[in-house]
Amino acid sequence: MQLSSVLVAAAALIAPVYSSAIIPIGRRAEGLDVSLASTGNTQVKVSITNTGSEETSVLKVNTFFDESPIKKVNVLKEGAQDEVPFKGIRLSYNPFDLNQDDFQPIAPGQTIDAEFDIAETLDLTEGGNYIVSAEGVLPFSNPECTGITGVIPYKSNEITIHVDGKLAARTETVHAKFERLARRTEIVDSCTPEQKQVVTKALKTAEDLATAASKEALCGDSRKFEQYFRTTGSSVRKDVSERYAAIAKEASSTTSGHTKYHCEDTANACKKGVIAYAVTGKNIVVNCPSYYDMAEVSDGCGGKDQALTIIHEFTHIDEVYSPATTDYTYGLEASISLDADKAIKNADNYNFYAHSVRLNCDPEEYNKNRLPEWFKKLFPNAKTS
Ligand SMILES: [Zn+2]
Repeated sequence: MQLSSVLVAAAALIAPVYSSAIIPIGRRAEGLDVSLASTGNTQVKVSITNTGSEETSVLKVNTFFDESPIKKVNVLKEGAQDEVPFKGIRLSYNPFDLNQDDFQPIAPGQTIDAEFDIAETLDLTEGGNYIVSAEGVLPFSNPECTGITGVIPYKSNEITIHVDGKLAARTETVHAKFERLARRTEIVDSCTPEQKQVVTKALKTAEDLATAASKEALCGDSRKFEQYFRTTGSSVRKDVSERYAAIAKEASSTTSGHTKYHCEDTANACKKGVIAYAVTGKNIVVNCPSYYDMAEVSDGCGGKDQALTIIHEFTHIDEVYSPATTDYTYGLEASISLDADKAIKNADNYNFYAHSVRLNCDPEEYNKNRLPEWFKKLFPNAKTS
């Protein structure tokens, strides 16, 4: 590490200076170019070029570099108004469980490619011309840090691809795979009595958290709302409040409602760092083994627990509240640095706001109490108050 960054980090620890602005982490306006190209029928190649002057490490999980069937691009049939419905999965990562292997370094001027098949997550069997584009943010890490330290917004070029529907049908979709495997393993009954007990308890806590957040979003402290959703607009407050009310209702019963909980990793997506995932369009939430290792209730601001994960996953379910959220980024700092239009669509903003209502968290305080990475390496047992 360079001395200058040590000094900056030390200065931040000793004498934190916080403006009233709510962007505690870096948000770069430029530095990455995202370019799409068609490589045959439903195959798309994305090329990410570092146009800046410094190396950038881009998060691999839940981005173009993730091999799971997640949403990477927006696809519209030519002439249509709405996107082709996404039928893949939405992963929930634990931002505290990320290490350097989860980031892809890109040197200045370097281009890294990734390729994926959009027929895996979209029904393109009708065939014809489709318009494909990508827009979002890429979370990044600084070389000396292990977690997400900022986000870089991007917008790709738009490409038109001609799809042969019969050929597209040969790719097995996530839904088809899920049905095939589900029949074989009868996963609905795959949860052990202990797992069912954990989920039942967490649902009750999630209901309480979402009920309180619903009231607070509509009528509570506008400053707190703005910290998490980046606006105080009354229509946004109403919309967020209604989503929480729908989540509370969904969590209130283990026998009715729209969502099914699975304990078997049927989509084969439970890898390191993944807590749970939602199968979009199927109203299914799968808890990965690490879900059961989490705290039942977290008492630290910016933390995650079993009940908060339920809130996170329920925001991904269209049948609970539409439109479902996506995962632009994870973790408190990155989530609350999103623009208002993305913050309202990012799942983590909902679990963190609900948690903040419960614990009366202040993200600026959270940031102040956070120990720098170099300090944590030197003193692994150190804790803030
Ligand atoms: Zn998610």
